[in-house]
Amino acid sequence: SQYVAMEGIYKQYGNYEASKDVNFHITEGKIVALLGPSGSGKTTILRMLAGLEHPDQGDIYIAGKRVNSIVPAKRGIGFVFQNYALFRHMTVFDNIVFGLTVQKEDPNIIKKRVLELLDLVGLANLQDRYPGELSGGQRQRVAFARALAPRPDVLLLDEPFAAIDAKVKHELRQWLKATIKKSGITSIFVTHDQEEAVELADEIIVTNNGRIEQMGTPEEIYGQP
Ligand code: ADP
Ligand code: ADP
Repeated sequence: SQYVAMEGIYKQYGNYEASKDVNFHITEGKIVALLGPSGSGKTTILRMLAGLEHPDQGDIYIAGKRVNSIVPAKRGIGFVFQNYALFRHMTVFDNIVFGLTVQKEDPNIIKKRVLELLDLVGLANLQDRYPGELSGGQRQRVAFARALAPRPDVLLLDEPFAAIDAKVKHELRQWLKATIKKSGITSIFVTHDQEEAVELADEIIVTNNGRIEQMGTPEEIYGQP
């Protein structure tokens, strides 16, 4: 099925072709890695799914709906930025609230939802801290909770482990994978790290020079684990 899809996508920045005939279909509930070397067009694909960039040609589908002319806030996506983009002057609690207030929800519903999310990411005891008082992994969890707050259909993550210490990466990947699976959300993340893609993803889309070179399960692409 075509839960998330790109069909015949082309994108140029000036004369530079960042996406050349990009096509893929993703099934609901999968965790998918966009894997490729720096400059291969991964982030461009993610940003076009989010509506932060627009293709010159082709169609984009989110949750089965064509979204080409739909603004980012209405696409049903959550976005975790590479540096997490948390608000330094806001507590953990308020950073997560921010993911919801754009929807003008009832304050009691907001509070209940934030407490649910704090529980999901295991940060209930740190809800009054500021981002500057957290580890990289804890900041990632806050960004993750904030992105999930409005119950998006699809979660997009740009290099979610770029700011994480090598020593704790493995543990945090396992945590993120388990937590994504628990929430059941279709997720797409960008990485240049093959080991990370294999460890986290159900399916891998390999990008090279603006094109999709391969797509399949880690086993299909790299053989038996
Ligand atoms: P990746 O995420 O795989 O590193 P990107 O999608 O970020 O690749 O970039 C693909 C190419 O497009 C790179 O060569 C990059 O320099 C170029 N590019 C990306 N964004 C812009 C932009 N806003 N303006 C001009 N060139 C860009
Ligand atoms: P308002 O005053 O706008 O109705 P709330 O009463 O919902 O807002 O919450 C105000 C602030 O109090 C929140 O943004 C948050 O920082 C803090 N807060 C609310 N509920 C909790 C809670 N259960 N635990 C910790 N902080 C909370």
